[in-house]
Parts: sequence; structure tokens; C-alpha cells
Amino acid sequence: MKNKVSLAKSSKTWNNADRKPRFWRCFLPVLAACLLLCGCSPKQAEPARYEQTFFDVFDTVTTVIVYSGDEDAAQQTIDEAHEMLVRYHKLFDIYNTYEDLNNLCTVNQNAGNAPVPVDEDILDLIAFGKEMHETTDGALNIAMGSVTALWTEYREAGLDDPDHAALPPEDELEEAGRHTDIGGVVIDRTAGTLYLADEALRLDVGAIAKGYAVQRVVEQLKSEGAGSLLISAGGNVCAVGTKADGSNWKVGIQDPYSGGYLLAVRVDDRSLVTSGTYERYYTVDGKDYHHIIDPKTLYPSVYYDSVSVLCADSALADALTTGLFCMPLEEGEALVDSLGGAEALWVLPDGTQTTSAGFEAYVVSDGE
Ligand code: ADP
Ligand code: MG
Repeated sequence: MKNKVSLAKSSKTWNNADRKPRFWRCFLPVLAACLLLCGCSPKQAEPARYEQTFFDVFDTVTTVIVYSGDEDAAQQTIDEAHEMLVRYHKLFDIYNTYEDLNNLCTVNQNAGNAPVPVDEDILDLIAFGKEMHETTDGALNIAMGSVTALWTEYREAGLDDPDHAALPPEDELEEAGRHTDIGGVVIDRTAGTLYLADEALRLDVGAIAKGYAVQRVVEQLKSEGAGSLLISAGGNVCAVGTKADGSNWKVGIQDPYSGGYLLAVRVDDRSLVTSGTYERYYTVDGKDYHHIIDPKTLYPSVYYDSVSVLCADSALADALTTGLFCMPLEEGEALVDSLGGAEALWVLPDGTQTTSAGFEAYVVSDGE
């Protein structure tokens, strides 16, 4: 029964795994989600709850929870989810190459040089990223890798040596900003290749890869008959069905200020994704600079402290949170309304919360 672990036991494992602050920023939302999830799941005969946590995909904490009457089947489902996520992690990795595999790092290395034959899953992800660029009117731009790489470099240096933390030099940002044209990302479906037409253009799929991968995994498992499961990859949560006893899957949305929770929502057959300024940031001269970059200014976006999106598709939820982060409220509200079926919660820098019209229907109260 090694996989039928109690949540308390899982939490202890996570506690001991890594004590770095960045870990906690990923870990807290997952822990919260699980605490909420376990709140009303007494030990029951059948089907039982099986849960496993992984640390080797998308540089974050991933938890898979399955309800099943058959322990072997539950383990198989969890293993399959993990294997698929590892595969997507390697394909979408922009930092490392792997033997015998052309991934997005290979594509970035060949910018301006040659089209790279890639797996169809890469072409699908990039096609989705291009589509979302259009949907969000450029607020989400996966071709902005040269700009985000500069911010990542300066953030990591600043976190390592806070006394000398600095902003990326303006001229370097401007130069990087000249190489972010999404039109330079060329998909050739017939040849099965991906080409970056500008040698200084770099792809960064950090805003969409986790949600996209989780969605594909959930679809595959559903097609194989999974009826009750939840995957949380660094706070990208996607649930199939309800819990086995018919009760809701509930997930807490983090309060960007206290680290506590603003509220909980039910996510049955839906996905919830939150992006927040508290997730990754560093401090320069007393001011915090987070990791979501507004393509218009090339600086961290200033509109919100967190944005959550609830909708049926995890890839869309992930892309939208980042896109909405980089547009004013009125524009964001209009976009969410126009999509139909998507709901959002915005937390503005003054702490005000605003929601789309249908969001409230998903909020669950303490007793529920
Ligand atoms: P998280 O990485 O915490 O899940 P997001 O889904 O919002 O949060 O993705 C943020 C990541 O996406 C950043 O770390 C960066 O790699 C990339 N990114 C930042 N700003 C943008 C943007 N405007 N468009 C596309 N990608 C972005
Ligand atoms: Mg995102």
C-alpha cells in the first residue's frame, strides 16, 4: 500500500525535501490545495484515495491524486501521468538538451540557423502559444525569451547576492526587445520543423508549458477511463470528475500578501491556475521585481498582485493568467467575457479583488 499515503505523511516528505524559499513559493499553494482537499475525505473502504508527489518535472512540485477501487490500476494511472509529464518536461525544456532528442533548447540554439525537426507535441504547444499571442493581443508572447532571460539572469544574481542586486541595463533590455516578433517563429507542419527566423529570438514557454502538459495528460487518462483524479503541477490544478464520494474537489487560492488563503473554489472537471507576483521576484533598492514581464514595457507588469483563471482547459487557464497579468482590468474583463466558460479573479496592488461575472458560482464556503 505504498502509494496510499496519508496527506500528513506527504506533507512531511515535502517539508524535508528542500528548504529554499523558491521551493516554498511553489509548495505552499500545493499544500493548501491538499489540505483543503483532504479536509473531508475520511478513510473509506472503496474506492480509496492514492496520492504521489514528484519533484522532477517543470522545476516544481507535482502531485497526482487518484480515486480507484483497484490499487494496481491507481498506481498505473499515477505512473502514466508521471511518465507523460517527464516526457513533456524534456520536450519543452529551454535550458537543457537531452541525448537523442530535439527539444525547445535545440530550437533556441538553432535560431537564425536552421529549421529543427521536432516532435508534433512541440509544434502543437508552439501553435497554441502563437494562437494565445493573438487572443491576448500580444500580452502573452512566447517569443520574448531574450527579454525574460535577461530578467532571469539579473534576478538569480540578485538573489545570490542581494547587496548587489541590479536591474537589467536599459540598453540590453531594449536590444532584446527588438527580437520578440512572434512572426519569426515558423512552424512547418509538412516538414515537421520549427524555425526561429531571427538569430537573437528565443522561445520561453514558461507561461504555458505546465498547463499545456497537464491538460494533455488529463485528456489521455480520461480517454483510458479515469473518472476521478486531480493533478497539481506547481499550482496548475486540473481535476477530472468529482471525488469518489461525489464531493467536490476544492482548491484554495493563495492570498498574495499573507500566504494564507483568499477563498476556495470547486474545480470538478475544471482547471484552476494562479500567477502571482509573490512566486518569483527579487528586490532592487527596496523595490520588488517579479517574473511576469509586460511586453509593452519590458518590465514586470504593474497591474495586479495575482490573477487566477478557472476554466475547462488547463492550457488555456495557464496562458490566460499570464496574458491577463499584462493587460489593464477593463481589457482583461472583456477578454474573459468574450471567451465564454472562463472565469477569473484579479487581485489589484491595493488588495482589491475583482471577479468575472460567473466566478462566484464556483466559490465554496468553509462548511461545504
Ligand atoms: P509560473 O511560472 O509561476 O507558473 P506563469 O504561468 O505566469 O507563472 O509564467 C511566468 C513565466 O512565463 C515567467 O517565468 C517567464 O518565463 C514567462 N513570461 C513572463 N512574462 C511573459 C509574457 N508576458 N508572455 C509570455 N511569457 C512570459
Ligand atoms: Mg501562465
